[in-house]
Amino acid sequence: MAIATVNPATGETLKTFDALNAGEIEDHLVRAEQAFQEHRTTTFARRRELLLAAADLLDADQDGIARTMTTEMGKPLAQARAEAAKCAKTMRWYATHAEALLADEHPDPADVSDSGARRAVVRYRPLGTVLAVMPWNFPLWQVVRFAAPALMAGNTGLLKHASNVPQTALYIEELFRRAGYPEGCFQTLLIGSGAVEDILRDPRIAAATLTGSEPAGRAVAAVSGDEVKKTVLELGGSDPFLVLPSADLDKAARVGVTARVQNNGQSCIAAKRFIVHEDVYDAFAERFTGRMTALTVGDPMDENTDIGPLSSEQGRSDLEELVDDAVHKGATALCGGRRPPQHRAGWFYEPTVLSGITSEMRIDQEEAFGPVATLYRVADLDEAVRVANDTPFGLSSNAWTRDPDEQERLARDLQAGGVFFNGMTASHPGLPFGGAKRSGYGRELSGHGMREFCNMTTLWYG
Ligand code: NDP
Repeated sequence: MAIATVNPATGETLKTFDALNAGEIEDHLVRAEQAFQEHRTTTFARRRELLLAAADLLDADQDGIARTMTTEMGKPLAQARAEAAKCAKTMRWYATHAEALLADEHPDPADVSDSGARRAVVRYRPLGTVLAVMPWNFPLWQVVRFAAPALMAGNTGLLKHASNVPQTALYIEELFRRAGYPEGCFQTLLIGSGAVEDILRDPRIAAATLTGSEPAGRAVAAVSGDEVKKTVLELGGSDPFLVLPSADLDKAARVGVTARVQNNGQSCIAAKRFIVHEDVYDAFAERFTGRMTALTVGDPMDENTDIGPLSSEQGRSDLEELVDDAVHKGATALCGGRRPPQHRAGWFYEPTVLSGITSEMRIDQEEAFGPVATLYRVADLDEAVRVANDTPFGLSSNAWTRDPDEQERLARDLQAGGVFFNGMTASHPGLPFGGAKRSGYGRELSGHGMREFCNMTTLWYG
């Protein structure tokens, strides 16, 4: 895939970039290693100062970087601004909390005295340079949620960003440099995915984190496994959105639409499968479809646009194939199911609701990465749980019920990294984020995410 900025709203190639050659990659690795040896010994106070400076710069740059993101991958401008604001907030969160989250732990001497220790300490030391392979869908957020905790822990980072967001990738490197981080602490590698394996095998790379598709995750995990290097994988999702009889239907429909179409429908934690109890199915389907139909598809730079284009032509044809396959096998499109006729250029797709989903349809088991929702009618809670779990994915889940017994049952039985009751899944710096099953492993965010790339060291004092 060429490294280029191609505006998905027009299909126009705006800028192309050369990939780094072997010598340039080596220079980056040398700088990363040198920077790690220095950065790992810095105090939390110094790391806090640097990250707060980056947060302030990012706030000042908000409109400009939001426009770059929208130009490169098509998300509505207001959502791009909100993404930049969330990144600055997350930097401040880690700047404030990292020291306490990584504080030494002191096991009770009485519990370890039979090991011969007078005392013992558990210390979280940094691992080294972490390679981050990141996707285009939240081109700033995906990187910052890795970089902020990693840098606070004393690690250094190398970013291999998606090939369609090179200007955002370069901006992030520049942001950290302007904030005062020493050269090499955080660098962007403009490379294709074919260059990842050799870098991962390099002894100067300690670990890897990847957000993206299952094939990309598998490839990085296989090499990392061969090299015995730690990985965190955040892959796809097909999150269920359960609506049970006690739900506030108006709110569920409103939030459900946002949960499905956020980021033009291209979010791993978007609600994708709407599993609705038969007692409220018709009422919910009407409200939900009405709201999906009312969305405005258009230029993502326009403040009135709800849904911009998909990020690539390939992304749109993948989505079209899923919808066409379902309709061909008997699904009904309650709305959408086609390209909007008024947009000839650009990779737009109408917000779509499909009902009558069966297990023969690909969309039942595959991730729909665009504004397409599927509706399932279920007879009771048991069937709702069975349908929700009948997927290879297990990222997060949403459940609309005000019944505490139902909530407890779902908290026990939904196979996912999160269960969000009466709301939509969203990441927050203070809450662990990650999946089960084929959605990946490991966690990002919170103290758990930061400790993924630490060497948890036992200090034993005889
Ligand atoms: P990819 O998984 O291909 O891209 C994500 C990142 O991985 C990019 O930086 C990409 O680089 C890199 N990559 C791809 N293949 C490899 C490889 N074999 N070895 C190392 N790095 C690799 O996502 P796509 O953009 O192709 O999207 C395809 C599907 O993936 C979507 O439809 C969606 O289902 C899922 N996806 C999920 C995301 C999530 O948030 N969990 C985000 C994006 C996609 P390059 O760009 O150079 O190919």
